[in-house]
Amino acid sequence: MRVLLTGAAGFLGSHLVDRLLADGHHVVGMDNFLTGQRANLAHVAHEPRFTLVEHDVAQPWPDLGPVDAVLHFASPASPNAASPYGYPNLPIETMLTNSQGTYYGLEYARRYAARFLLASTSEVYGDPQVHPQPETYWGYVNPVGPRAVYDEAKRYAEAMTMAYHRHYGLDVRIVRIFNTYGPRMRLDDGRVIPNFIVQALRHQPLTIYGDGSQTRSFCYVDDLIEGIVRLLHVDAAPFPVNLGNPDEYTILELAQTINRLLQNPGGLRFEPERYLEGDPKRRRPDIQRAKTLLGWWPKVPLEEGLRRTIEDFRHRLHAQSPD
Ligand code: NAD
Ligand code: UDP
Repeated sequence: MRVLLTGAAGFLGSHLVDRLLADGHHVVGMDNFLTGQRANLAHVAHEPRFTLVEHDVAQPWPDLGPVDAVLHFASPASPNAASPYGYPNLPIETMLTNSQGTYYGLEYARRYAARFLLASTSEVYGDPQVHPQPETYWGYVNPVGPRAVYDEAKRYAEAMTMAYHRHYGLDVRIVRIFNTYGPRMRLDDGRVIPNFIVQALRHQPLTIYGDGSQTRSFCYVDDLIEGIVRLLHVDAAPFPVNLGNPDEYTILELAQTINRLLQNPGGLRFEPERYLEGDPKRRRPDIQRAKTLLGWWPKVPLEEGLRRTIEDFRHRLHAQSPD
């Protein structure tokens, strides 16, 4: 297969590059390094089956030749306004990447009769009123709230993807990704696991927004990539498919686990003012559809995934400021 993958220099994108190359495919990566890192692709720079095209997906795409699949993963993904890479600081880019970028990706797939796979998100469920969240739930999103630039753009991207399927018969897939973590996330990404690991490695208090009672369900990256590859290859109806780990933790439990694993003397710091309107109170995927359709479910327990992630973060932090 020849695959065109947007967001290839990002966290998930670079892991997908590795997996697709390992499976024998050719990969054309497209990225403008808005939130991605060149280091994530340094190890494939000389791989003959990999090409990198530096391009903003929200601008008309160059013709890069026939492909069998277009995987659209480009988009800022962190909701944290305290990080320069958080989508609150990249609001227009986030909306255009998911609207215009999705349109150009769909057009590219249509031109070459390729399969199109959209990286959507659990954020389409907003601050959910149904728990856990099945794909049949339509969500609870404030269209003028602080998260809207991401949530509504992803909802638009899903609607556009279905329009191409219904109108042109394009072969499409939509994956709704729930909180995923692992090696190669930016140290300054702003999402909760990178923040907590960096703080713990520096022996600082972990910053808990609100009282820490909000929940998330964390999926290790290898599990997620396996699910995405299965969804790419399966002969499936074009329904959205949730991929995530249904083991649910409060943010307080997550912080305590990371402090214990790293024996962090820094403790915790509660920052109520940082808990934003629209921050989902509970999130956990219903993965029955993925189990039935793909025979998929996550295998890596939280502590094991955190240990692997901590090793990568320790290495990169040390390379930044060896002492
Ligand atoms: P990331 O920020 O590490 O990767 C995103 C990549 O997209 C970066 O390399 C960035 O430079 C690139 N990009 C952004 N805008 C671009 C543009 N206009 N043109 C070209 N490239 C552009 O984030 P991630 O966690 O790897 O997320 C990847 C995808 O998965 C995103 O679409 C995100 O919404 C989705 N997702 C991720 C998670 C998660 O938990 N990691 C959860 C739900 C959805
Ligand atoms: N969070 C926190 N401290 C941090 C970063 C995040 O308590 O340093 C909280 C955040 O308010 C949210 C949860 O952790 O309730 C998950 O945040 P993240 O940014 O990882 O992603 P989200 O699931 O909200 O998109």
